[in-house]
Amino acid sequence: MTHLEHTAASSEKRPLAPDVGRLDDRSARAWTEAMAVTPLGSGRYAVDAQSGNRYVVDLPAHRCTCPDASIRGERCKHLRRVAIEITRREVPPPGKREGQCAACGHDRFLPETGPALCDDCRFDPGDVARDRETGDLVVVARPTDERADEWVIEGTDRTVASYDTNEGYPPDDPVIEVVYPFSGNRQQALSELKRYAFPHSRLDRQDQQLL
Ligand SMILES: [Zn+2]
Ligand SMILES: [Zn+2]
Repeated sequence: MTHLEHTAASSEKRPLAPDVGRLDDRSARAWTEAMAVTPLGSGRYAVDAQSGNRYVVDLPAHRCTCPDASIRGERCKHLRRVAIEITRREVPPPGKREGQCAACGHDRFLPETGPALCDDCRFDPGDVARDRETGDLVVVARPTDERADEWVIEGTDRTVASYDTNEGYPPDDPVIEVVYPFSGNRQQALSELKRYAFPHSRLDRQDQQLL
């Protein structure tokens, strides 16, 4: 028989659910009543309550259509339940929707508008990435929502998708504008560097930020 040794600092023991006996009535009901929460988009959620009624919660506006919120002005159990489910990642937060990430293929929370990319796959300005073709390090200047097969490269009659070295990448990839700050004149400000358009999947994000 083996014993697990407590050498490493073990995490603190804690219950997963709150002690509902110590919560106020609305919070306790938000945890314990059977409810179904369905995201409607734009920060709105339908809540099928235990009573059989369906209410609509507008989270950014702190509103719910139930009498407790709309008449008594209380922070009702439906509003609280939506907040709990968002914290537990059961439903997407306002501004996000559930879907398949176009880059990694996993079911994730994605932005409601713009390219279907999860937080891990999306590029933000200042993100450092490696060009999968050349190995060069580049810095993201501007992520766009435009498709690689619709973006015509300046001074050419070719799109990003039809450019020779991009032919292996999906034509509907969003275009990412990048700069090369690690070569040439280092005195130049990032905003003055020439921008190059890449299909999203050609860039491999590195765990560092330049800005
Ligand atoms: Zn309510
Ligand atoms: Zn992803």
